[in-house]
Amino acid sequence: MESVLVSACLQGVPCRFDGRGKASSETAAAIGDRRPVSFCPEVAAGLSTPRRPAEIVGGDGHDVLDGRARVVDDTGRDVTEAFLEGAGRALEAARRAGCTEALLMARSPSCGRGRVYDGTFTGELRDGDGVTAALLERHGITVRPAPGG
Ligand code: SF4
Repeated sequence: MESVLVSACLQGVPCRFDGRGKASSETAAAIGDRRPVSFCPEVAAGLSTPRRPAEIVGGDGHDVLDGRARVVDDTGRDVTEAFLEGAGRALEAARRAGCTEALLMARSPSCGRGRVYDGTFTGELRDGDGVTAALLERHGITVRPAPGG
């Protein structure tokens, strides 16, 4: 059976920064008959739940991978290394399970695909990917934002 990497919070795991999950029928439909490989990069990197919200400052996940941008939380703490570690662990999990596609939570600084928060903590978005989404894409895994996520 084909496997698909899925943001753990989309399967109802309460791993979001606010201690909540976000399962939905849209996510279940997008997974279809594939085997979901549930994964949270931020928890895998050892960040606590709940935790301070974080955003990418100075670019998107690709810029973080290239050392041009950082991930900081809303107290100004730099959490870039944890986000990079989580992205690497997500890639390992996807490869181990043979996933060619990932279904990830929209707008997250880790999992976002196409649009992410802009680093101002004002709810504004910018074009770009989260750190995990960027790393997966760079390694040939197709990342799709969860419908309704
Ligand atoms: Fe974890 Fe990604 Fe969900 Fe954030 S969006 S809680 S990093 S799975």
